Amino acid sequence: MGLLENRDDLKALVENLNFKEKVERSLAIIKEAYKKYGDTLVIANSLGKDSVAVWDLAKKVNPEIKGFIVTTRFKPTETIKFMHKVVRRYPELKVYKNDKSIAEKLYETKPDLCCDILKVEPVKRAIEELGVKCWVTGLRCTEGRTRTDFKEVEERDKGLVKLNPILIWKEREVWQYLALYGVKVNPLYAEGYRSLGCAPCTKITNDDNERAGRWIGTSKCGGECGIHTRPLKQR
Ligand code: SF4
Repeated sequence: MGLLENRDDLKALVENLNFKEKVERSLAIIKEAYKKYGDTLVIANSLGKDSVAVWDLAKKVNPEIKGFIVTTRFKPTETIKFMHKVVRRYPELKVYKNDKSIAEKLYETKPDLCCDILKVEPVKRAIEELGVKCWVTGLRCTEGRTRTDFKEVEERDKGLVKLNPILIWKEREVWQYLALYGVKVNPLYAEGYRSLGCAPCTKITNDDNERAGRWIGTSKCGGECGIHTRPLKQR
């Protein structure tokens, strides 16, 4: 049985595999999936530390692998500048954005709706336009309360596989990888952020929970924008 069909105990792997073994497993998962899905395998690059690690791993598997970035009108200036640098280096990363007009401060009044419009819709569009059969994310199961039950390979939408090749990495191992391989990151991490999103919904915190600084003061605090939980295939 290949890694794409594995039924391994992920919680045990988080604790028992060492850094090198985790990197090898992630590379093997992407390699196996790329062999199966070819150019219909696409990396979703959010430009966060986890995504840039996955992007680097994917480029090691095959430099031809493509990806997409979803940006919004509310991304911090540093993130936009970082995005332009990354896209200059990797033009095979296509940028998606929703410019639809929305109510003022929708991120405060209805953050779920705001994320649906500004984040989930462009992901759906990217998946449709790029003909994606397998999308690859930087999701990790130790990131926060909403991320404990994902699998390395999922099929939440029929006909659309989601690969989470660094699911079992700890935060420290992501930084270890980025440092060892000299992968550039968003300069906002140097200011103390641990999880990056849109400016109005992202704060610096000292909480143990890595995503605690996301959507503080709303029902979504420490939660999800919806791309990992909502249906993504256009019906
Ligand atoms: S993170 Fe905040 S500003 Fe960005 S789409 Fe979601 S609710 Fe809107």
